[in-house]
Amino acid sequence: MTSLDDLPVRADLRGKSPYGAPQKAVPVALNVNENTHQIPENVARDIVQSLAVAVLGVNRYPDREFGQLRASLASYLGHGLTGDNLWAANGSNEVLQQVLQAFGGPGRSLLGFDPTYSMYPLLADGTGTRWIGAPRDADFELSPETAVAAIREHDPDIVFLCSPNNPTGTPLSIDTIEAVYDAARGMVVVDEAYAEFAPDGTPSALTLLPGRDRLMVSRTMSKAFAFAGVRLGYLAAAPAVTDALRLVRLPYHLSALTQAAAVAALRHSDEMLAMVDDIRQQRDRIVSRLGELGYRPYRSESNFVLFGGVRDPHAVFEALLERGILVRDLAIDGCLRVSAGTEAETTAFLDALADVDSTA
Ligand SMILES: *Cc1c(COP(=O)(O)O)cnc(C)c1O
Repeated sequence: MTSLDDLPVRADLRGKSPYGAPQKAVPVALNVNENTHQIPENVARDIVQSLAVAVLGVNRYPDREFGQLRASLASYLGHGLTGDNLWAANGSNEVLQQVLQAFGGPGRSLLGFDPTYSMYPLLADGTGTRWIGAPRDADFELSPETAVAAIREHDPDIVFLCSPNNPTGTPLSIDTIEAVYDAARGMVVVDEAYAEFAPDGTPSALTLLPGRDRLMVSRTMSKAFAFAGVRLGYLAAAPAVTDALRLVRLPYHLSALTQAAAVAALRHSDEMLAMVDDIRQQRDRIVSRLGELGYRPYRSESNFVLFGGVRDPHAVFEALLERGILVRDLAIDGCLRVSAGTEAETTAFLDALADVDSTA
């Protein structure tokens, strides 16, 4: 058998590992920050009706510029945005890859603040962009001063800011984002995959878009919107920026079925987001209970909690798995990450963790 090492794989990809969050059939999966609530049945029915219409047209290629979807996304986001400001692809991972294809590549660099979303360095590798992981402040926070110092030091072509940050959950202030934009010479992406879980009234980076042509704000339907299986991510930016992404996207990259499903779901955005309040309550419950159990949860404005004070993360991960609960071991010293599930799933996790503690 030929192994990977025998193949003429690009030299800069040799020895790298693919994205590999375990996909296991367990009763309680709280490891990839999905919305664990099903979408409402009446919305599912409306989506199926839209799919039934769309499927009759699949002998033709889909709308390459996905105009209806862009308009739907613009009206969902508000902030005076129109379809020209919107871009979408099969998950925000693909959107971010297209950003790197258009603005990064060989000889160019991407800076982010570690620990951050594990896909950023992988997307950099795949596009031949050099990844620069800059440090954060204590407790994984990021002040304007620390962020600006890293940009002055490295002068990157692109900056990815994750707000709130995955895997730490920590929010990012608008002041830090503004300071990064002012200090950076290149493109700045604010990845707001978890924005809907922030406290009501938290300003989005969307408020900074007017007059800032190098800024992009990326979002996804995978998390709060409970639509991870459909694969739909999007970003808002100046029309020239979304135009630039057309240079690198594959023709007809968004299938007619994806477009129809997303447009139908966006017609029901209030119902699709109905569980966000409950998920925030479960997150807050995790934070307070973890504190009682003697762990050290970090500040979270997302739908997951990173907690420290775990003596042997790998052993606790395995002990939870034996009890049917899957969490995330990110190889951050003394830490594990858990997504906020339904009330029952969250209870199952907290009870299992207390049980692991008492038997460890
Ligand atoms: C989950 C996640 C995404 C979303 O990925 P999709 O490809 O849209 O499913 C993007 N950014 C971060 C930081 C995430 O955690």
